[in-house]
Amino acid sequence: MICVILLLSTVLYAERLPNQLLQESSENTPFSSPQMACIPCRGPGPDPEAEYSKVTSNRPLKNWGRSYQFTPAVVVEAATFEDVIEAVQDTEKYPTPVRALGNIHTVTEAVVNEGGTVVLMRKLNQIIAVGNDDEGQTVTAQAGTTLLELHNWLGKKGLEMLVAPEIGDASVGSIVGSVTKDAGPGPPSETGSLYKAIVGVKYVDHMGRVVRLSKKEHAAELGLFKCSEGLLGIVLEVTFRVFPESLVQLSLKIMNTKDMVKKISTDILSKTRTAFILVQPELSFIETREPAPEGAEASSEFWWSLIAAFKLPNFQHGLVLFPFPLLKFLPYRACLYRRTQVNHYGEPGPRDNRLDFSWYEYPFERFEEVVTAFNAFTLDFAERHNGWRPGACATYFMERMTNKPHGWFSCKGKGYEKAGMSFTLDPIFNNPNDPNWRAFVKECNVFAVAHGGRVALTQTREMDRDTYLACPGQVPLKEAPNKRFTTPFFARFVEREGEDIEIPL
Ligand SMILES: Cc1cc2nc3c(=O)[nH]c(=O)nc-3n(C[C@H](O)[C@H](O)[C@H](O)COP(=O)(O)OP(=O)(O)OC[C@H]3O[C@@H](n4cnc5c(N)ncnc54)[C@H](O)[C@@H]3O)c2cc1C
Repeated sequence: MICVILLLSTVLYAERLPNQLLQESSENTPFSSPQMACIPCRGPGPDPEAEYSKVTSNRPLKNWGRSYQFTPAVVVEAATFEDVIEAVQDTEKYPTPVRALGNIHTVTEAVVNEGGTVVLMRKLNQIIAVGNDDEGQTVTAQAGTTLLELHNWLGKKGLEMLVAPEIGDASVGSIVGSVTKDAGPGPPSETGSLYKAIVGVKYVDHMGRVVRLSKKEHAAELGLFKCSEGLLGIVLEVTFRVFPESLVQLSLKIMNTKDMVKKISTDILSKTRTAFILVQPELSFIETREPAPEGAEASSEFWWSLIAAFKLPNFQHGLVLFPFPLLKFLPYRACLYRRTQVNHYGEPGPRDNRLDFSWYEYPFERFEEVVTAFNAFTLDFAERHNGWRPGACATYFMERMTNKPHGWFSCKGKGYEKAGMSFTLDPIFNNPNDPNWRAFVKECNVFAVAHGGRVALTQTREMDRDTYLACPGQVPLKEAPNKRFTTPFFARFVEREGEDIEIPL
């Protein structure tokens, strides 16, 4: 009973606290301008309720975290594949660069397209069919479908994807060419990142041609597409591997961080078990996840709704209320389906705290050394910045991919050559525009380079070309310097700016 009261009061408190803790004012956002005052848009991202014509000029857009605002010359609300093809083909009506956007939840400049053409994919959200290939069952969905929509649809059929990041608002088209991470148990060849689950894609290339790639017939080309950061084309449909749904057992531990790093291999992870860890220099919140024991039944809906109701506002508002020391009294153990842990983050109010993060990957063999050094760096930063610290670091574990051509989660680059596990160490904060947070993230990028870490263009903030190329296994985007899809942000990372290269099929 005490625990229930604690949870409920935390949830209720969570809904109120963000305004009180607000650290920014609308004046300190780097993108506010007099022009933005008359935006007909009610919240972050494209407003699905607003009445816009299919093609709008100079419609301002912003990401969910409101760290980036921009005004494309043309915004197209695509309702058919033909709308997307036309936007790519007609270079006069639709100025270069052309980029698709889903729900604009990305935390980096990868979403910015000032003066170009944005194709909003949200209305293309049909889930087409469950199918089969040589390796098992699949599901195909249009690019604007959100992960939450897909999980719920599959759940009704007793199916699931083995990768279920807690962000339900991500569109499936956006995650084809960029990093994702999640901590779900299962075979290492299938879990950790949606890259592993994507077995087919249909896209519009820079000439407006519709191209289909499948793992069976075009494994290498599909691999390149999945590394291309959206520079090879606009995704229309995605095919994922799916499985019969099965229960996952979650358990919570709060541990001293010094003990956690020592016991990571022995007590916390095992062959069948993975974990999602929130690391602070002193304490760690450890949620282990493993297949539920045979015969186990799903915990009651009340129980998992309570867990979700505690987690959702905490994640959404950037952990402003994560009382680590108190959590150790929670009898937190549940058997759940993966989809019950997938969230829809509503639009944050204008003065709400909201989660921001920056993504880093390291080889698992260096877990103790890197986490210890990072905690020392965090405490040192706090000393230099009047005690300011991030909320925690989010840590996930995943098996690297031997067949991924380069970059994040590949077996390329010093320290990552062998097949093995990587872990992430992603600092989290509750205000994307806070000057201390932005300074901290810049120093995290330097830390990553010094400690053999890797970054990702759609999830690591404050990224520049030198840092990007200094990370092991990261190469200029040489297979995808397609100028029709290259915004100034992506132009910083390509090998030869302004050339069109096609995948030979
Ligand atoms: C609160 C929060 C929590 C998050 N938690 C997680 C998490 O647990 N795990 C995780 O992996 N990520 C997480 N993320 C990151 C998020 O999953 C990704 O940024 C995701 O891609 C956002 O989806 P979107 O539809 O909003 O993409 P957008 O932000 O709209 O687009 C992202 C990029 O994809 C490109 N793109 C979009 N659609 C297409 C298309 N159809 N074809 C080609 N390119 C396209 C865009 O041009 C852009 O470069 C989180 C983000 C937030 C804000």
